[in-house]
Order: sequence, then C-alpha cells, then structure tokens
Amino acid sequence: MSDNGNKPLRPEQDSLYARCEDIYPREVHGIFASWRVAMVALTLGLYYILPWINWGEGRQALLFDLPNRKFNIFMMTLWPQDLIYLSALLVISALALFLFTSVGGRLWCGYTCPQTVWTEVFLWIERKVEGSRSEQMKLNKSPWNAGKILKKGGKHLIWLAFSLWTGFTFVSYFSPIRELGVAFINWDLGPWETFWIFFYAFATYGNAGWLREQVCIYMCPYARFQGVMFDDNTLIISYDEGRGDPRGSRKRGKDKPPDKGDCIDCSLCVQACPTGIDIRDGLQYQCIACAACIDACDDVMDKMDYDKGLIRYTTLNEVKGKGLHIFRPRVFVYSAILIGLVVAMLWSLATRIPVSVDITRDRNILYREAPNGKLENVYKLRIMNQDNKAHTFVISLEGLPGASLDPDEKETHVKSGEIVDTLVRVQANEKDIKTRSTRITLRVTATDDKKMAVDENASFIAPADWFQ
Ligand code: SF4
Ligand code: SF4
Repeated sequence: MSDNGNKPLRPEQDSLYARCEDIYPREVHGIFASWRVAMVALTLGLYYILPWINWGEGRQALLFDLPNRKFNIFMMTLWPQDLIYLSALLVISALALFLFTSVGGRLWCGYTCPQTVWTEVFLWIERKVEGSRSEQMKLNKSPWNAGKILKKGGKHLIWLAFSLWTGFTFVSYFSPIRELGVAFINWDLGPWETFWIFFYAFATYGNAGWLREQVCIYMCPYARFQGVMFDDNTLIISYDEGRGDPRGSRKRGKDKPPDKGDCIDCSLCVQACPTGIDIRDGLQYQCIACAACIDACDDVMDKMDYDKGLIRYTTLNEVKGKGLHIFRPRVFVYSAILIGLVVAMLWSLATRIPVSVDITRDRNILYREAPNGKLENVYKLRIMNQDNKAHTFVISLEGLPGASLDPDEKETHVKSGEIVDTLVRVQANEKDIKTRSTRITLRVTATDDKKMAVDENASFIAPADWFQ
C-alpha cells in the first residue's frame, strides 16, 4: 500500500503494466459534497424504494414482466407493441446526455452515475468501519491481527450484504418484489433469478468496493467519447493557475509572500480526489468532475482568509479571459429537439388508447347469401386488451346505411393482456348496396369506458354482376 498524500497517482500509471496504487480519498465537506450526498440519497432512494410501490390492487408500479411480455409503468401497462415508446425514451435519454454534457460537462459522472453513487456509499461504509483516510492507511500498513481481521472482515461483510440487497432490488424490477422476497427467504428462487441477483451483487461489490475509479478511467465508454460533446464553453473544473501560481507553503494568518500565488501547496485537493489526479496539472480525462477538490480547496482558502474559487467550475473560454457563454447555438438546438421529443412522447402517451384491433376478411368466401336472404360478408377481428384490467367490448358498424351485424352489438370479453379473435358477420339488403366494394367501419368500444374505442376499416364486397 502506498500513500497518495502529496503527489498525484495517475502520472505513475502511464505504463500499461504499472501497479495500480491504492487511493484513499479524503473526506470533504462543502456545498458540492452536500449536493453529492443529496444525489446519492435521491437516486439510490428511488432505486431501492420504487419496486415496493404498488399502483392499483397488488400491481407493482414499476415491473418489467418479461415472461408475460408486459411492462407496468405506474398507471400504464406497455406491451411489445408499444416498443416505440422505449425507442423514444432511449433517443430522449441520449439527447439529454448530449445536452447536459455540452452545457455541464461531466455532471452525470460526478453526481448521478451508478458507479459514482454506489462508490460513495461504499466509501462511507469504509470510513465508518476503518476510520478516516489516515487511519485506513495506517490499518493497511499494520500487520494482520484480530483487530485488523475484525475491521476488514466487518467492512467486507457489510459491503456484501449491501451488494446482495442491490442485486435483489435489481431483479425485483423484473420479478414481483414481494413474491421474490418470500422466495429469497425460503431459498426457493428460480435459476435465472438466482443468477441475476448474485451477478448484480457481485458487479456492485467488485465495481464499487474494489475497482472504483478504474471503472471510470479504463472501462467507461462515456468517458472516452464525451470529448466530442465538449467545447470551450462547456463547464469544467479547473485550477486558476494565474491566481494560484507560484505555489508555496506558508503559515496561516501571515501575510501572503509577494512572490507567491494563492496555492499553499497543501495537496488537500489531491488527497480528496477519488481518481488520484492533481487538478493543478490541467484538464485530464480521469477527472470525473465530482468537485471534491473544489470543496477541499475552498476550505483551505477560508482558513487562509483568501477568496474561494482557486479551483472552481469554469470554462476554457473563461480561463482564457473570453467570458462565460453557457447559452450558445448548439444548446438551443439540442434543447428545442429535446423539448419537442418529450412533448410528442407525453402527448402520445396521454392520448394512447390501450386496445388494438386487427381486422381480416374471411378469405374463403368473399360474400354469401345469409339464411335471411341478405348479402353477408364475414370478418375476423383480433382484439388485444392492452389495459391493466379486463374489459367487455361491443362491436358496432358504420359506413353502410341499412346494414347490420349478426348478432347486433356483438359483445366480447377480453382479459388484461389477452388477445381474443371473434367472427363478425355484416349483412345488408341488395337495395342498400350501391357499389361493388363499400368501405365500412367496425368500431370496438369498451362498455365501461367509451373513450376506449378503436375504428378499423374494411370493404364490404357484393357480386360484380349486380352492377353490370
Ligand atoms: S480533479 Fe477534482 S473534480 Fe476531478 S475527479 Fe479529482 S476531485 Fe473530482
Ligand atoms: S487545495 Fe488549494 S491550496 Fe491546497 S494544494 Fe490544492 S489548490 Fe493549492
């Protein structure tokens, strides 16, 4: 184990074969640390609580029920036919990431990325069990004894329990959580549930407990391609070299030496950095923009009675003295497209009718004479109830005055998620038929909700010789 107290670790790792140094990020307090804690609470709070929420009687509000091929999203149930919404959601998410990265840089990485938020929790557990940064370093250097085994073992046990809970919660988005809980307690899980719970738990334990910053630096594709979304007006975290250099230590309360800048070279910004870099060396791809170095440095500036902001959120243009230009053409273009897509998707979801109907003619006979002497066409209606409850549907006819259905107002009961085929006979007297092919409309309406109605068009065919 080595100490990363006074120098950055990353430059030593330029060789592909360099041993990865252990990083002990110093705990910091400040406005950005509070934001990070708030985001951890919000994102992980939602992750762990959402599967326990029901919407309607015994219906899990968020459930991706793959075996039954339906997705509960609060009051809505989506089916494979609604895949367009999932595609739209992916496009919106990608565009939002473009927009936020273009404006705020790596805000996603610093505050909401699962790797960041879970690592924050794991670091917090580590500090609670092993103590502060210096205590952790001391413990790692000390020989193995009962105390060390107890602390290390305790930490890993808590990490593993938390990871298992994380894996269990992940699977509960795909398998009803209450039944999953009972099966878990009775050790009666299916093979896939067992696999995914342990796989996700293992991934959480490995990524947040062991790999940590290496996931961001070596494994994350977003870290690599976000450079194309950056420009000179994107927010970055930067050290103000003009103000801070030349660096040099000094006593608190003493006047600033005339040949020195504001940086007292205390290295607290380096010690706070979870990726082990020195932000004073300039913008580096390893920086996940967590702002821990800002909090650490602001604290030092406060104590020295200097102005805060030696390390701060800024832009490359501002650093060069060209001013801050957050709102620029690409931001407006991304925003306009994003707003347009979100509004279109919400409108489409709000007006979505959760029933779909397919209509096909009886291919064997185009038409025939019914026992009552009328001309009859037969259609097969396939009704799919995409709502989360059963409905009874009535079928009615429009478009051919004098024509009727046999029987009148045919009723069909369809359970939630069920597809029911039903035959519909349309009958008309010869005097009412004006053309060989008449466009008719068959309307399928739920008896308990008149807004749940779908029209499907078809052709009513008569013998050609009637019109010669
Ligand atoms: S340099 Fe600062 S903002 Fe970047 S990762 Fe390190 S502590 Fe976080
Ligand atoms: S925390 Fe601030 S003062 Fe201390 S070394 Fe970093 S930049 Fe300099």
